[in-house]
Amino acid sequence: MLCKFDEKNNRWDGIEPHIYKENPGVFLDVTKQILFDGAADLSVQFRYFQVEQGGFSSLEHHEHMHVVMIFKGKGHALLGNQVHEVKAGDFLTIAPWQWHQFRADAGDILGFLCLVNKDRDIPVYPTEEELAEMKKDPAVEKFLEGTLPD
Ligand code: MN
Repeated sequence: MLCKFDEKNNRWDGIEPHIYKENPGVFLDVTKQILFDGAADLSVQFRYFQVEQGGFSSLEHHEHMHVVMIFKGKGHALLGNQVHEVKAGDFLTIAPWQWHQFRADAGDILGFLCLVNKDRDIPVYPTEEELAEMKKDPAVEKFLEGTLPD
């Protein structure tokens, strides 16, 4: 099966983008397209998330892992307590219970492909205490407050 990519609209033929309700506390301006929704012999989901300029994915952690490839644009990713610049082509492995968030905070969209087990636990968001602990690192604080320079 082939699913053609429409480069102009960043959409795959026949796949409806799911538009998340805006919720600045959790995520902002993020859409998801599910490219592969699992099969008997491959119980994974392969998704494309697009964060519009200025938007961000949820800050979360969970037992299940992600492998991620940045597909379009650039921005920053928080992995554990490290902030990284990311751009198209970069590949990330997100370990169990590692905090993670993606931000399109570099004057561009940030689109990434994400592979995940179909059977997985529900993401957990940080408590106020955990958030305060993370923000003790100035780079992480800037990232979380969306004030990193482009
Ligand atoms: Mn996640």
